[in-house]
Amino acid sequence: MIDLDSLRLEFRSRFGGSPESGEPRVFRAPGRVNLIGEHVDYNEGWVLPLAIDRDCCVLAASRGDRRLRIHSREFAETVEIPLDFSRRGGHAWSHYVLGVAWALGEIGIEVGGADLLVASDVPPGGGLSSSAALEVSSGLALAALYGASPGRTALARACQRAENEFVGMRCGIMDQLTACWGRRNHALLIDCRSLDVRPVPLDSARLRVVVADTTTRHALAASEYNRRRAECEEAVRRIAAVRPGVAALRDVTWEEIAPLAAAWPEPIGRRARHVTTEIARVHAAAAALEGGDYEAFGRLMGESHRSLDRDYEVSSPELNLMVELAEGLEGVLGSRMTGGGFGGATVNLVRAEAADSFAAELGRCYEARTGVRPRVTACLAADAAAEIA
Ligand code: ADP
Ligand code: MG
Repeated sequence: MIDLDSLRLEFRSRFGGSPESGEPRVFRAPGRVNLIGEHVDYNEGWVLPLAIDRDCCVLAASRGDRRLRIHSREFAETVEIPLDFSRRGGHAWSHYVLGVAWALGEIGIEVGGADLLVASDVPPGGGLSSSAALEVSSGLALAALYGASPGRTALARACQRAENEFVGMRCGIMDQLTACWGRRNHALLIDCRSLDVRPVPLDSARLRVVVADTTTRHALAASEYNRRRAECEEAVRRIAAVRPGVAALRDVTWEEIAPLAAAWPEPIGRRARHVTTEIARVHAAAAALEGGDYEAFGRLMGESHRSLDRDYEVSSPELNLMVELAEGLEGVLGSRMTGGGFGGATVNLVRAEAADSFAAELGRCYEARTGVRPRVTACLAADAAAEIA
């Protein structure tokens, strides 16, 4: 939990209290974890993430000029840059904030100068989407300072655009939508084509979500991600040649395309099988959650992991070990890799009463096998981004 009083003191000592700005306003946006529906967002399918009780906080005050002065507590660095910056050059982490200022301008929300203090307990690169938490909290702050309140989906789209076009990361929209639409004690069933969001109850009295970060990161992840996207596009081209109107893998089921896929070169069929069966699993998982059938939900998570490992080939030995160890522990309902893969974290659905011992035991077992201490975190489903003070 971030201590607001100490942040206010830090804001004053870094930026002073200017007469025109007064006390800073405070905004937060949550990280997220995806329960099921992996490598599905860019195939326009459905995903089932939740916003978590880890936040990026932004303290913000307007300035009389057109400069952004941003300090990140985690990166221990202050960047000062004019708003009318050229779109190239500049500084890596600050580009997420600058990009959001630019993307807001693109939808008609002109922002002026600001002092921003960023403090986040969403670990960067740990599979919990620290980048969307930073984008959405600073987007909310900049818009509010200049009297605008974009709708949630519009804000999410602007933040995704900032990451795609300004930072240069070709991410889907799941992370930003989750930060903007999160709801306490709920997961979100998101249609990545229509951007429709439906909250699904996640009973916090009975369930915990535990994230286990292997702390491994693989340099291959970005190029393999792009290759998977291209393979999915190839599958869609082959289907559309005989079924005009099919625009994405979300438009077909595996049963419909299996006879076609048998004639495709490796590995296109297996990639399409992962995506189409994963979309079916998301619908089944949402129904299981709504019906309180947590065992069924857990089984679907296991099937998702095996499909990501064997058909989509985006898992890693570390992720497979983390899942295998989790599946042997008391209180676990299901376990799978989450995020892009090739490293990063697993997500585990655990009975609430067993969550603490599960987390401790999983960390201990993994360290005993690998010598590496993983970062294991029990999470609750949290509310969407908001101004908090
Ligand atoms: P994640 O899965 O955590 O979103 P990304 O690679 O997408 O991983 O985003 C991480 C990047 O987001 C960091 O390298 C940094 O540029 C930016 N970022 C995240 N949190 C902060 C923060 N607290 N302060 C500054 N930059 C941050
Ligand atoms: Mg990210």
